[in-house]
Amino acid sequence: MPALLAMTTVPGTADVVVVGGGTIGAWAAWFLARSSLGEVVLLERDTLGQGASSRAAGMVRAQGGTEAAIRLGMFSRRFYADQRALLGIDSGFVPQGYFMPCFTDPEVEHARQRIALQQSLGLDVRWVEPAELDELNPSMAPGQTLGASYAPGDGYVDPPRNVLAYTAALFGAGVRVCERTTFTGLLVEGGHVAGVRTSAGDVATSRVVLTGGPTLAAVGAAAGVRIPSHGARHQVVVTEAHPDFSPDRLPMVFDLRAGIYWRPCEGGVLWGMSNPEEEPGEATEFDTAYFERMRQRMATLLPTTGKVGLRKTWAATIDYTPDHLPILGPAIGADGPIEGAFVAAAGGHGMMWGPGVAKAIADLTASGETDVVDVTDLGLDRFDEHGRSRLDPDPISLPFPE
Ligand SMILES: Cc1cc2nc3c(=O)[nH]c(=O)nc-3n(C[C@H](O)[C@H](O)[C@H](O)COP(=O)(O)OP(=O)(O)OC[C@H]3O[C@@H](n4cnc5c(N)ncnc54)[C@H](O)[C@@H]3O)c2cc1C
Repeated sequence: MPALLAMTTVPGTADVVVVGGGTIGAWAAWFLARSSLGEVVLLERDTLGQGASSRAAGMVRAQGGTEAAIRLGMFSRRFYADQRALLGIDSGFVPQGYFMPCFTDPEVEHARQRIALQQSLGLDVRWVEPAELDELNPSMAPGQTLGASYAPGDGYVDPPRNVLAYTAALFGAGVRVCERTTFTGLLVEGGHVAGVRTSAGDVATSRVVLTGGPTLAAVGAAAGVRIPSHGARHQVVVTEAHPDFSPDRLPMVFDLRAGIYWRPCEGGVLWGMSNPEEEPGEATEFDTAYFERMRQRMATLLPTTGKVGLRKTWAATIDYTPDHLPILGPAIGADGPIEGAFVAAAGGHGMMWGPGVAKAIADLTASGETDVVDVTDLGLDRFDEHGRSRLDPDPISLPFPE
C-alpha cells in the first residue's frame, strides 16, 4: 500500500462530518467551523479539489431564472467579493459584466420577464438594446442579436485559486481535513445519525453533510439515500492570446440556446460548451467533433476565435440535477428522513452558487433553518422514485442530458 494511504487516520468522534472536499463540502465545512458546533471533520477520498471544482470554467452569474438561483448567485457573488477582507485570500473573483443575448422574439420576452424578477430581488441587471450591446462588446460580430440582459456585477472566479482559498480557509478555521479517506457508509440508530464509516475507520457523530458533485449519487448509495444527481462530459477551451481578447474588450457572454459561454483568460478567451446529446457518465476524453461544430458558432459570434489557435482544452465530468436546481435538505433513507444527515448539490452551478449552497447547508445542519434561500422546495422530497422533479427546471442553465 502507498505510504500516504497507510498514514490516513480519522478521529474517533466529531461534532460534524462533511463528505467531499470540493467547493460545496469545503466551504460548508468552513461555515460549520464558524458556527461553533465543535470539531468539524472533512472526508475527501482523493485530495481537495480533485473533483469538478478545480476543472470548472469559473463563470459566476446571479442572472438566474428562478428566485432560488438568483438568491444563491447574489449570495455567492457577495461572498467572493468580500472574501479577501474576511480571509486574507480570495478566489480570484473579477466582476467582468455578463451579457445574455437574445436571438428571437420569444427570447426577448423571456429575458424581460427574467429581468423584472431579478430586479425585484435587488439584482443590478438591465435590458440592453442591440446597438449598445455591440458598443459594449467590440470584439463580438455586430448586428447578431435582438439585445441582451446585462448584469455588470456578474463575473468569474479562478477555480484552482478557489481550491487554494478554501484549503487555506479550512486549515485556518481548524477543520480536520482527512484526504485519501473514503466515506463508505452511514451509521444510523433509531432514525438518527450515529456515525460514518470510512476507509480509515468509523467516526462517531450526530451530524453529517453529504456532497460529492458528479459522484453524489454514489455517496448517497453508500449512505442508503437515493440522490438523483448525475454527471456528464462538459468541455472547455482557452485560445491563444490576441488583442481582441483583452479584458476591456471582452465582457462575458452566455449564448443560452447554443450552450456556449465565454470570458477572458490569460490574454485569450476561455469558452465552454455543453452538448445536450451527451450521454450521462464520467468524462474521459475531449469530444473533438462536437468542439468543431461549436467552434463554427463561436466564430460567427466572436470572429477572432476562428483565426487563433488553442492553448488548452479539457473535458471533465460536470454534475447536474434533473431540474438544474440545487439539492438542499435532509437525507432521506428507506425509512424516511435521517435525523442529522443532510445533502447538498449545486446542480452544475458550483462556482456561481457554491458559497450560497455551502452556507445554506451549514445553516440547516447547525440550526435547521437558513436565510440564504427558501429551501422548502429544494429537498430530495421533490423527486419521485424515478428521480423526476415536481419543479419546473431553471430555464437559465446549460443544456444537460434529459
Ligand atoms: C468543465 C467544467 C466546467 C464548469 N464550469 C462551471 C462554471 O463556469 N460555473 C459554475 O457555476 N459551475 C461550473 N461547473 C460546475 C462546478 O464545477 C460544480 O458544480 C462544482 O464544482 C461541484 O462542487 P462539488 O463540491 O459538489 O463537487 P466536486 O468538486 O466534484 O467535489 C466532490 C468531492 O467529493 C469527493 N468524493 C466523492 N465520493 C467520495 C467519498 N465516498 N468519500 C469521500 N469523498 C468523496 C470527490 O473526490 C470530490 O473531491 C463546471 C464543471 C465542469 C466539469
